[in-house]
Amino acid sequence: MTTSKTVIILARYFVKATSTVICTVRNGENKEYRVGIHKSGNTTCTCKHSESAGNHAHCYHVKHVQVAEIARREAEETARCNRELAFASY
Ligand SMILES: [Zn+2]
Repeated sequence: MTTSKTVIILARYFVKATSTVICTVRNGENKEYRVGIHKSGNTTCTCKHSESAGNHAHCYHVKHVQVAEIARREAEETARCNRELAFASY
């Protein structure tokens, strides 16, 4: 069992001015990193692995946040559709 690849999102900020999602994550070794998902499609992370990757970080921290963001968007879409359906039935 590998616990080192565990990622927990501790905090999520949305920077409206730049449409950037910033997440503070913690891995299985209790280290914290800051992941950025940028509007341009660029991804950044403060971990060692991604420092050299510039604006195209592909570490598992970034992957985790990307998956979480997709799930979040889908949940928002579903909520919006349900609201519209409820409204339409009146
Ligand atoms: Zn990382």
